[in-house]
Amino acid sequence: MDFFADYTMTIDGEGVTAENTFNAINPATETAIAAVPSADKAIFEDAVASAKRAYPAWRARPWRERQALVSKLGDLIEENAEDFMRLLTMEQGKARAGAEWEIGGSIAWCREIAKQALETEVAEESENRTVETTRTPLGVVGGITPWNFPLLLAVWKAAPALVAGNAIVLKPSPFTPLCTLKFGELTRGVLPKGVLNVISGGNEVGEWMTHSPDIRKISFTGSTATGRKIMASASGNLKRITLELGGNDPAIVMPDVDVEATAKELFWAAFQNSAQFCVAAKRLYIHEAIYDDLAKALVEYARTVKVGDGLQQGTDLGPIQNAMQFEKLKDLLADSKKNNHRFLLGGEIEEGTGYFVPVTIVDNPPEDSRVVTEEAFGPVLPLLKFSDLDDVVRRANDTEYGLAASVWSADADGARKIADQIEAGTVWINEIHTFSPHVAFGGHKQSGIGIENSLHGLAEYTNAKTIVTNRTAPAS
Ligand code: NAD
Repeated sequence: MDFFADYTMTIDGEGVTAENTFNAINPATETAIAAVPSADKAIFEDAVASAKRAYPAWRARPWRERQALVSKLGDLIEENAEDFMRLLTMEQGKARAGAEWEIGGSIAWCREIAKQALETEVAEESENRTVETTRTPLGVVGGITPWNFPLLLAVWKAAPALVAGNAIVLKPSPFTPLCTLKFGELTRGVLPKGVLNVISGGNEVGEWMTHSPDIRKISFTGSTATGRKIMASASGNLKRITLELGGNDPAIVMPDVDVEATAKELFWAAFQNSAQFCVAAKRLYIHEAIYDDLAKALVEYARTVKVGDGLQQGTDLGPIQNAMQFEKLKDLLADSKKNNHRFLLGGEIEEGTGYFVPVTIVDNPPEDSRVVTEEAFGPVLPLLKFSDLDDVVRRANDTEYGLAASVWSADADGARKIADQIEAGTVWINEIHTFSPHVAFGGHKQSGIGIENSLHGLAEYTNAKTIVTNRTAPAS
């Protein structure tokens, strides 16, 4: 198998091409690196039909057999880890450390989710009567993924869907389809035909998925705007939905932190994956007592970080993944400039090849400025000053989003009291981005609906089914 050529979709365990193709672009060089099949409606229907055919036999297999096969998917990724990392960097832009994190995570998730199962809950058990709730799979589910962590997020959907007994149709972002297509190719001959299908194409393929009467659930990761559309169209046939959407995560930094050490942590909290990270720290609230020192330390550390082509040795941060997002960031920077914000670092995009945005740190812009209220999804970070705890909690919560947050303090108990007041699905204290297949992750407010990971996430790929057995049949 050639990882760097021959990209085909996977339907019914076979490679499938399409009449039309579109180009995958390397964002560091702006060159086309692959022709990607663009599914039309007939191909889409084939994928759904193949999943539908595969479902009954897959559902009938014992949990442990499904678990073993999902664990094997982790082995397949591991055996091809080097190729996956290179391809991921080529299509997404991220540098080596980021690619290792994503591919390593994809392997771990397959193996760990494969250890999960949903037990039958017995609510009542007496001589004559049993009340038990089991979990049954949904049928065919659809997984729609974004372009920032293409393989990891595909695995976050495929692994629990399959373990729970569903068949799945996966649709990667048109900006980053390659790793997911190769993942599909690797599963051929390993998974039963049709249990996992991968189709590539434009946004319309996602829309067809949300309308299809044969798809019982959509698990979506992407923007809040698209999430709203998916929720609207899923209402047509009351599809189940899990939506992992945008965030504008606050980080609150208390005056008792070790400034140098915390600055480094905060840098990566904000800029990992070139800040194209739903849970990046996107607003840094720093206590006024340490604001200047921390800002200086952040800038100093940032100067040691190299932005460039992820394939080049020594690169720490890659480009923005696509031209559309690059333009959005240019617009955001222009707005900051127009409003005379002070840049402590960056702010100027140099002419040249590749969608490169320099690490940009904005000095205490007004709370209602776009750079604070919008999810930048790129390396533009506002530092904000606070003095009063109630005030900073109010500001941190003053957003439609509620994905995650972090609190940094030498006083973990005090930080915990702050965490309790933050409206977000995850609050980290003195660490950040420590995900686990066994820990629930999901957004509050408009950051999402539902949970991924943990048994809560697994349960979202099932229906609850209660069976009440009375052993005494009615008798006259
Ligand atoms: P996007 O919403 O533009 O696209 C995501 C996916 O949805 C793509 O596969 C796209 O083809 C598909 N799509 C587009 N329109 C659709 C429609 N009408 N119906 C069905 N599918 C459709 O998101 P993006 O720009 O790829 O990703 C960036 C966003 O994702 C950011 O807002 C980020 O915060 C969010 N994100 C969230 C999480 C999380 O777990 N909460 C993780 C990563 C990214």
